[in-house]
Amino acid sequence: MNGYKTILLAVDLSDEAHSVAKRAQHIAQTNGATIHLIHVIEPLSFAYGGDIPMDFSTIQAEIQSQAKNQLQKFAAQYQIPESCQHLVMGRAESEIHAAVGELNADLVVIGSHGRSGLSLLLGSTANSVLHGSQCDVLAVRVGKE
Ligand code: AMP
Repeated sequence: MNGYKTILLAVDLSDEAHSVAKRAQHIAQTNGATIHLIHVIEPLSFAYGGDIPMDFSTIQAEIQSQAKNQLQKFAAQYQIPESCQHLVMGRAESEIHAAVGELNADLVVIGSHGRSGLSLLLGSTANSVLHGSQCDVLAVRVGKE
């Protein structure tokens, strides 16, 4: 079997994202693979659109510019060039699936919280990405038990 060539690292830009990134970096180094970094911004209108009659465009632009800064800083720590940084709007799982297709990625690396109870029923990004994924998915355990 050949090693991985293109790794898609999905980050929510939380502190936990670093343990996920370190795992991706290790795999990339041992396989000689390229890492692409993706962060998805969920539009506010998805959450509040129907309920609150207000224009979200200013606050949305602010969220986007802050996320861009954070993504650049995060990427710099792992020597990921700008051409491999992807900031997209939408739903995390569908945008991650789309990016896998566009980049022809052969591995997605994603964080996974050990869930139980209600949050297990509600599901997680890792779960949704795994279902219907075109390539391998590595769920890196993050957070507390
Ligand atoms: P969750 O358990 O649903 O909070 O998601 C855990 C993992 O999903 C994170 O560690 C990331 O790898 C990925 N993820 C969650 N939200 C995003 C996002 N907005 N953009 C990219 N990846 C994300």
